[in-house]
Amino acid sequence: MSYKDEVLAYLHQKDAHESEFLQAVDEALDAIEPVLERKPHYRKTRLLERMVEPERVIMFRVPWIDDNGNCQVNRGYRVQFSSTLGPYKGGLRFHPTVNLSVLKFLGFEQTLKNSLTTLNLGGAKGGSDFDPRGKSDDEVMRFCQSFMSELFRHIGPHIDVPAGDIGVGGREIGYLFGQYKRLANEFSGVLTGKGVQWGGSLVRPEATGYGMVYFAQEMLAAHKDSLAGKTCVVSGSGNVAQYGVQKLLEVGAKPVTLSDSDGFIHDPDGIDEDKLAYVMELKNVRRGRIKEYAERFDVAYYEGKKPWDIPCDAAFPCATQNELCEPSAQALLRNGCRLVAEGANMPTVPEAAHLFVKAGILYAPGKAANAGGVATSGLEMTQNSMRVSWSFEEVDKRLRGLMQAIHESAYRASVDYGVRGNYLAGANIAGFTRVADAMVEQGFV
Ligand code: NDP
Repeated sequence: MSYKDEVLAYLHQKDAHESEFLQAVDEALDAIEPVLERKPHYRKTRLLERMVEPERVIMFRVPWIDDNGNCQVNRGYRVQFSSTLGPYKGGLRFHPTVNLSVLKFLGFEQTLKNSLTTLNLGGAKGGSDFDPRGKSDDEVMRFCQSFMSELFRHIGPHIDVPAGDIGVGGREIGYLFGQYKRLANEFSGVLTGKGVQWGGSLVRPEATGYGMVYFAQEMLAAHKDSLAGKTCVVSGSGNVAQYGVQKLLEVGAKPVTLSDSDGFIHDPDGIDEDKLAYVMELKNVRRGRIKEYAERFDVAYYEGKKPWDIPCDAAFPCATQNELCEPSAQALLRNGCRLVAEGANMPTVPEAAHLFVKAGILYAPGKAANAGGVATSGLEMTQNSMRVSWSFEEVDKRLRGLMQAIHESAYRASVDYGVRGNYLAGANIAGFTRVADAMVEQGFV
């Protein structure tokens, strides 16, 4: 049995109930199999077995009181996956679907993604099954304070630096930071995505969406093409989708869809800057539903549906995992879509991803295309350590440079391993190799 198959068989037996985690590991190990053949010494030190086991998992109770005086209890987590390349680093997700499997998948992905950024960042993920939907600001604050009351003893600017993810934006990071500062009695760069007045970096809110578009531009530029004039289908309407659309508009593309967990809107005239400003107010201030866009601008709304049947040149899944299934991939290909760049983490099911690879379209997996968020978090950490604040232009320039470097290393790895232009393989190989070689150098720990 090959080394990869042996490790997967062991993991499928041991973590049989963790479907998302197994899916993420299956995908990565499939892609890196040629590396294992070239570097048989990895097997001797049980490198894969170590890599798929988080260094530490912390689970805790989060008690809080709602506005009606009722006692509520949620479950909190931090999965500290790998500190091989630097302090643990990865977001916090507040969503009812959060469980250990989801956070282990995200922490595993994060380790390879952070490696790709070329920065010194380990991998982690955390969060809670708390549902911020319909909660008042006060309830969110009380929840965040209770969550941090336990988490604070496990994190620190040189230990573990969490950030946002689904359900955790600027508001939540503010409440979490306030409570950390109070308990630890120190003002430090313990979280990223902070407000710019108190240690945050310019461009961090925009970074994941902008970075995704920069990555798409790099892929197209390699084929002497650009995004100008291209019709783009975008899913989600949160942080990544909003700034992805903003950058698409800047580069002359035409985004025509947005979604949330209830359905999607299709605006054939294109979502322009004014309409995007409406979405930002709707989602970030009023915390309303995307359906209201359809009523406001008199366009079609598809309840309970995803936008992948809409004809497009490029697709940007920016909502959540497993949101793009095999029939959706077939529809995209049939309708002429030639580029898919993932803003979300693992939005494409494996069968759909294989269709994209087989069709030879430009397909960028999340660990490459959405790495701009964590890369800019890395820049926020650097600014915090140096006690400086770089300008918007400076951070944006560095973000762009990092996305170019990520593209280059994923592309180069695809060439080195004889699968030129296969970014799924290239990103996994490049991310894996850096972590693996560092693990070998650091000994059997
Ligand atoms: P937000 O919470 O800002 O937005 C999430 C969006 O996705 C919302 O429109 C939400 O709709 C929708 N969504 C969430 N869960 C589901 C679901 N189960 N089914 C359908 N739609 C859903 O999160 P982000 O924009 O920050 O994150 C989006 C994706 O990008 C995630 O996969 C995240 O891991 C990834 N990512 C984010 C980074 C960041 O910097 N923020 C960095 C790298 C990756 P609704 O309002 O109805 O819940």
